Amino acid sequence: MGFKTKLVRAGVRPDPETGAILTPIYQTTAFVQESVDEYLAKGYSYSRSGNPTVRVLEEKLTVLEGGYDCSCYSTGMAAIQALIQGCLSAGDHAVISDVAYGGTYRLCTEVYKRFGVEFTFVNTADLQAVKNAIQENTKLIFIETPANPTLKLTDIKAVSDISREKNIPLAVDNTFLTPYYQRPLELGADIVVHSTTKYFDGHNATVGGAIITGNKNIHEAICFIQNASGVIMSPWVAWLTLQGTKTLAVRLDHQSASAKRIAEFLEEHSKISTVIYPGLPTFDQYELASTQAEGFGTMVSFELNGGVKSGRHLMDSVQLCSLAENLGSVETLITHPSTMTHADLDELERKRVGITEGLVRLSVGLEDCSDIIDDLDQALRLV
Ligand SMILES: *Cc1c(COP(=O)(O)O)cnc(C)c1O
Repeated sequence: MGFKTKLVRAGVRPDPETGAILTPIYQTTAFVQESVDEYLAKGYSYSRSGNPTVRVLEEKLTVLEGGYDCSCYSTGMAAIQALIQGCLSAGDHAVISDVAYGGTYRLCTEVYKRFGVEFTFVNTADLQAVKNAIQENTKLIFIETPANPTLKLTDIKAVSDISREKNIPLAVDNTFLTPYYQRPLELGADIVVHSTTKYFDGHNATVGGAIITGNKNIHEAICFIQNASGVIMSPWVAWLTLQGTKTLAVRLDHQSASAKRIAEFLEEHSKISTVIYPGLPTFDQYELASTQAEGFGTMVSFELNGGVKSGRHLMDSVQLCSLAENLGSVETLITHPSTMTHADLDELERKRVGITEGLVRLSVGLEDCSDIIDDLDQALRLV
């Protein structure tokens, strides 16, 4: 079955009671049991432990990533929390990409450090640095590629060779490319993490998360946390995410094509000093971007000649692009990572990983590309 067919059809069956083509929203807390020893339908008992609408999304995402199973969460951060709790205990250590979603960094350094878990943040694009960071007590390697917001790539296959040799699970945050463009489990990873808030939803309507696992043991350890701590996705969110997922491929193809055109426009513009887009031949990991994934994505980061002052001026001058923190939606969004998404990193840490004060991040939406370019052009005239 082709990927677009899977996007539309996988996991979804007509409702056996009514024939409804869309999965019903099972808005219920409890499920009636046949007897003390028997559940009525499919083992559902209480919606924290499992809900049929959420289950359909979990089955769809399992097929899309080519995994063993999936569990869905209230947010992407709740999924990352379940990942950490499922894999690590006090005294354990994890190796994590030094450029990662700001919330991941905050959760590790400000929450799990207090519980006695150790973290080393390394440049996971540097394989020797990954090897050097591994300790006796390392129980998880967690990479984000492309990384938010500098779009630095990590070679998933190469890191999985290292993690397999050491018997350490490798988790990949695949939010930026989705399984339509990149399937980490096929490249040797053990776990895939998503903020479904972004491309799966795609319409700025929900917050949600998912973890797709490659084997039973890891799945059970992580799923145990989903139920024990109650960080579940609601049936409403699962239903909206199911509808968004069906159009993922057409949205990503259109938005990525626009992103490439916009990156080329910016690269030619006299007021722009740097453009970062994995689909530009000038991108320093262009080769890896072309081989590891089937698309380059919708995110473009850039810097203006006038640095932070001009960058801020641009973000305040755009009229069509929205100044907002989300990404992956049908609306084009513009963000200032150093004061918005990555404000929790201290200045030195930001500088070290390349999140400069002048960096602007654009999540290219589904509007006509020429309208987005016109908007950037008029704003650039003002700076
Ligand atoms: C947004 C995001 C997260 C966190 O997801 P939420 O749904 O906002 O909690 C994690 N990783 C990446 C790469 C993200 O972009």
